[in-house]
Order: sequence, then C-alpha cells, then structure tokens
Amino acid sequence: LRGRTVLVTGGAGFIGSHLSARLAVDNDVRVLDDFSTGDRDAVPETATVIEGDVSDPAVVERAMTGVDTVFHLAAVVSVEESVSEPTRSHRVNVDGTLAVLEAARDAAARVVLASSAAVYGNPSSLPVTVDEPMTPRSPYGADKVAADTYARAYEASYGVPIVALRYFNAYGPGQRGPYSGVVEAFLERAEAGQPLVIHGDGEQTRDFVHVSDVVRANLAAATTEHTGTSYNVGTGESASVSELADIVADAFGSDAGIRHEPARPGDVRHSRAATERARTELGFEARVSLRQGITDLIGRR
Ligand code: NAD
Repeated sequence: LRGRTVLVTGGAGFIGSHLSARLAVDNDVRVLDDFSTGDRDAVPETATVIEGDVSDPAVVERAMTGVDTVFHLAAVVSVEESVSEPTRSHRVNVDGTLAVLEAARDAAARVVLASSAAVYGNPSSLPVTVDEPMTPRSPYGADKVAADTYARAYEASYGVPIVALRYFNAYGPGQRGPYSGVVEAFLERAEAGQPLVIHGDGEQTRDFVHVSDVVRANLAAATTEHTGTSYNVGTGESASVSELADIVADAFGSDAGIRHEPARPGDVRHSRAATERARTELGFEARVSLRQGITDLIGRR
C-alpha cells in the first residue's frame, strides 16, 4: 500500500500506533482516536490527528472524507470492562463499527476491521477455523461478533469491500495499561522482582501473535482481492499461561515465583488459530515466535 489516504481509528493505541507508523512511511495517514486508552505520543508525527468518538457518525464521516482505506481498530478492548459496562462497550464497539461502515459506504472506501479470536468463545475443536460457529463468552466477544458480521453484511448488501481480521493474543512493544494482556503484565512483574500472577490454573492456552505480524496482516488485507470475509491472525502455535510464565522467568533469570488468583469471568479455556486460509488467500503468515518476541521485548527494557 502506498500513496493512499488512509484512516486508522484507534491509531493511538497499541496495535493502531504500530500500524500507523508503518503506513506513514508511504501514505497520508489520519488517526481518529479519543485517547481513552491511546497515547498521543505514540501517533507518528506526520499523521493528521482527529480527536473524537468513533461512535459519533458525524465525526467519522468528517474523518473519512477522501479516504480510500480505513483500518478500524478503535474499541473498548478490555473483556473485564465489557463485563462491568456492557452498554458502553456495545456503543463503542458495535455502534462505532456501524459508523465506520456507513462512512465507508459513502466514501466508497475499503474497510479492514479489527475483529478478535474472542468471537469463538470456547471452540469445539482446535486449531479454530474461521468457519467455526461464533459463541462468545463475554460482552466484548459479542460486540466483535456483531462487528465482524456487520462488516461482511455491508459487503454483501452494499458492495463495501471489507476484510475482518480476527486477531489472537497480540503482544509487543508499546502495550501498556491495566488491561494490557498477560505478556506485558508478566514482564512488568518479573522486572519488579514480584511473583507472576496467574488467573486460574494456568493451563489455559493462547496463540500469542507479535504486533509486527498483526501489522503485516493488515497491510495484506488492504490490497487482497479476497474481500467479504474474515481471517484468523495468529501463529498457529499456542502456549499455556504457565508456559508463558516459565519463558518470561527464564528470559529474565527471575525466580520470584508464581501466585494464583481466581479465574476471570468471560475467559476462554483454549485458543489456537488455523492459519491456512490467511496463508493461501492473504499470503499472510506470522514470522515471530513467542520466545523470539519475548527476548526482543526484554532487550528493549
Ligand atoms: P488499545 O486500547 O491500545 O487501542 C484502542 C484504541 O482505541 C485506543 O487508542 C483508544 O484510545 C481508542 N478508542 C477507544 N474508544 C474509542 C472511541 N470511542 N473513539 C475513538 N477512539 C477510541 O487496544 P489494542 O490492543 O491496540 O486493540 C486494537 C484493536 O484490536 C481493538 O479493536 C481490539 O478489540 C482488537 N484486538 C486486540 C487484541 C489484542 O490482543 N491486543 C486481540 C484481538 C483484537
């Protein structure tokens, strides 16, 4: 993708800021963000910043003028927050997506949507394919089912070209905040010499995908001719949370130990992406292994 005018909603966030930085190399980038969890300093200097709420159609419509591709990442990302405030999470995650789809329809723009592995809930078999029924376990997951489904319906009904990317557990530099995910939480505690906190028994598994790979999947989705569908963005490998704790403790040389706390509501048990369709249709394959990604993160601290 080059020489385009692109919009990144949530472009000040963890994944959005990495994506914006990559796009800014050879495109005109706009970032729409309300900075609720995003960081103004993470937005590339050359990007045009529009501060506003993605669930406000007037704001989105203005931000979309002249845009040919929108990467829609703005969302309430925390499962916990969606459990305690499902209405707010719905407003941002579902109404926000509808606002983006409507504006894209007017502007004849392509939409690359940040969907999530949370749409699957506890899948009946692993690795989970995109054809697996969507049975989310949290309001956040339900929001993403609606967003993912609306996106495909917009292509079918109005010809808006869309690609929905179901990210698995993204991690990498710049992830922060109280809901930043288990990799960052473990690194922070290991660095402080504190025991790593595991919710539940630690045998739950996740497909950890490096943010640089998530960015590459977004770039592939921006140009693929295979639109109107969803893809998994994962490595195809999984690690249990206990294994992750070992990798982090190992890499840090820390021996502060592990503390178990109660399992969190809405948490899924096992997760691992089937990657075949993304490989054959998008030409996307994750490159960074978990060990490599963790070693790199520790090297930066
Ligand atoms: P993040 O919280 O760092 O980024 C979200 C961004 O959206 C933030 O900059 C925030 O300020 C902005 N935002 C929130 N509400 C907004 C609103 N009403 N209007 C405008 N901007 C708003 O989270 P992230 O991890 O970078 O996630 C990006 C996207 O990827 C989200 O859609 C998330 O659901 C999806 N996703 C992330 C993961 C992961 O592992 N991090 C996994 C699956 C899907």
